[in-house]
Amino acid sequence: MNGHFHPITKAIDKVARIFTEIGFDVVDGPEIESEWYCFDALNFPRNHPARDMQDTFHIKAETFDRPKTESEQKSMERFGTFNYVLRTHTSGVQVRTIEKWIKERREFPIAVVVPGQVFRNEATDARHEAQFYQVEGLMVGRDITLAHLKGVLEHYFSKFLEKDIRVRFRSSFFPFTEPSVEVDMECFKCEGKGVVEGVQCSVCSGSGWIEIMGAGMVHPNVLQNAGLNPREYQGFAFGGGLDRLVMLQTGIDDIRLLYNGDLRLVHQF
Ligand SMILES: [Zn+2]
Repeated sequence: MNGHFHPITKAIDKVARIFTEIGFDVVDGPEIESEWYCFDALNFPRNHPARDMQDTFHIKAETFDRPKTESEQKSMERFGTFNYVLRTHTSGVQVRTIEKWIKERREFPIAVVVPGQVFRNEATDARHEAQFYQVEGLMVGRDITLAHLKGVLEHYFSKFLEKDIRVRFRSSFFPFTEPSVEVDMECFKCEGKGVVEGVQCSVCSGSGWIEIMGAGMVHPNVLQNAGLNPREYQGFAFGGGLDRLVMLQTGIDDIRLLYNGDLRLVHQF
């Protein structure tokens, strides 16, 4: 029997293709991330309950090297401690990427996507895994607006699901974006109608919309932490589960099936 790509691998390739076609770079960051890039630099205050929103795997401080970047060094001086975690989201790559662009004097706007694994210390069930994939997007430059975000996301979902998909924003809160939005995409099965052949749509439960990710305009504090003047630069960021999109696209209804290595699943896609 021939070798076969896993549905997640195929989805990562597809995401990379969709975004490179419109001028984005695909970048990555470390899965073992400093608390600085994972939380502090993203405007999560220390001891703020928002940190508990993401059940974090902490790593013993002495296990790894000391600060590697300038801003990590500064954070150690500021907080007096320096720790690593398994990244709870791909958003840690935001500040890393902006710093890299500045250091290498690269041209703005920055436009990158980051498909990668993230880790949460939580019990697993059909909708939750302790390890899963996210796709992060970041665009930073001058005169970037929420309208650009909407355009990019409509392009992304339409290409991924191979069908014209609209998105809508609902206001929300995340420490690292201001304003923050929840992104809903129009249901691809019922095309926003909520019914299929007279029966309530099973994918969107009749609402016509599917909650798919969080996003927003990069918080001025995050731009500042990365070394940019927020009066001159703006940007948007988004982050959402890739597994979720794969499950919607394929009809797989249990996230654990994507990770248990069962070839009977892999060979179907
Ligand atoms: Zn529907």
